[in-house]
Amino acid sequence: MSGEASATAQGAISAARLPAVDRVLAAPELAALKAEHGLTLLTDTVRAALDALRSQALAGTLAPEAAAMPTLAQDVATRLAARAAPRLRSVFNLTGTVLHTNLGRALLPDVAVQAVMRALTTPANLEFDLATGGRGDRDDLVNDLLCELTGAEAATVVNNNAAAVLLTLSALAAKKEVIVSRGELVEIGGAFRIPDIMARAGAKLREVGTTNRTHAKDYDEAVGPRTALLMKVHCSNYAVTGFTKSVGEAEVAAIAHARSLPLVVDLGSGTLVDLSRHGLPREATVRETVAAGADLVTFSGDKLLGGPQAGLIVGRKDLIAKIKKHPLKRALRVGKLTLAALEPVLRLYQSPERLAERLTTLRLFTRAQPQIRERAEALLPALQAALGASFVASVQPMFSQIGSGALPVDTLPSSGFVLRPAQAARAGRQLARLEAALRSLPRPVIGRTADQSLWLDLRCLEAHDEAEFIAQMPQLAEALAA
Ligand SMILES: *Cc1c(COP(=O)(O)O)cnc(C)c1O
Repeated sequence: MSGEASATAQGAISAARLPAVDRVLAAPELAALKAEHGLTLLTDTVRAALDALRSQALAGTLAPEAAAMPTLAQDVATRLAARAAPRLRSVFNLTGTVLHTNLGRALLPDVAVQAVMRALTTPANLEFDLATGGRGDRDDLVNDLLCELTGAEAATVVNNNAAAVLLTLSALAAKKEVIVSRGELVEIGGAFRIPDIMARAGAKLREVGTTNRTHAKDYDEAVGPRTALLMKVHCSNYAVTGFTKSVGEAEVAAIAHARSLPLVVDLGSGTLVDLSRHGLPREATVRETVAAGADLVTFSGDKLLGGPQAGLIVGRKDLIAKIKKHPLKRALRVGKLTLAALEPVLRLYQSPERLAERLTTLRLFTRAQPQIRERAEALLPALQAALGASFVASVQPMFSQIGSGALPVDTLPSSGFVLRPAQAARAGRQLARLEAALRSLPRPVIGRTADQSLWLDLRCLEAHDEAEFIAQMPQLAEALAA
């Protein structure tokens, strides 16, 4: 390469003078890394480090110190640490959205965590009937509990509620029509749209009514020889207000049953308890929906229920049997970890009077604003000290959301920090810098921006997390100074 010599900076060294991989591996500086990570990973990383140096050497920019052992060893250590760092990391959810889909939705209570640990490390009777010694059905592990809690005859569990809807429609409505109100053709984030799911299931969507108003006669007139079922979908993530009319479950069920057709209700979140008992907005429970005449109800495991990601289908025994026989059920079934977590969560609902203290999500929903504000005020000085003079932090009232499309228009009075750039000039860039610094922490802190400020809602910072949050403040100060 003729350009190489002329491009070489004063004092730079050539690629030929780089040490061989074997020599680097034998260096005493790398002994500890070899013990920790093993020879395979170390060799691979040393190669990558030397490749980078070679590129610099060819560009004529390699300083002799960079190729010297202490620097090279440090580079290899940094690369190994980056490679070994987990990609799925624990964060602080201070967004104010309790069930944040991008941050993993519901947090499991301890009883569920213990059950998952046990199921992870010991064999279990997942599909083994301990009474007879014969083959069991994994759904039986939670079937009785789900029936007891919802008043349904039978239940089955799949990967998530999207899967529950897809499976139900595939099993009961393929090549037939499904009647749904135009006001309920919802899109849930992440590409779940009722019309698309319907098409995937091979069912024909028969829309009735209008966006804002659907009447009983709309359903009634739409029923024909090709109708497989009537369906109602919970308007999870939006509210239709103003000049509106929708037909309740009981009335649609009566129309369906008069023609011997089933009513399927996708409840979305699907709560098992009357939330107004806990000072939260009222939602129809799964039990009430079953009692109103729904033949099948589908709902999520990790929304209001507060359990693992799962899709639950409860309802008529004959319909559940049909669903369980469909080949998609095998493809969409849940693993043992999901069932291990789901069972103890459902059991908590058997003692509703103690639910708010034992079920993590409900405990977070019901934290009172004065209590959250008191914690915010206690933590404010440490945060302000870390922020230095560039940002002003204050404790302010704010509103949390339940999230995951559950109760979209209802908010929970909360408290937390509002961090405002001290100088109005280039506030946007300052905020971006602050957010990046918070994300760079060992346990990243995620907030939300509004009104040229960063808002950190403390609803989801529970007492047992505070020490870890505060321990990161020196690192925050460092990240902001960098
Ligand atoms: C959330 C939701 C779904 C999807 O449930 P996942 O458990 O996220 O798959 C389907 N339908 C409605 C009405 C929902 O609110």
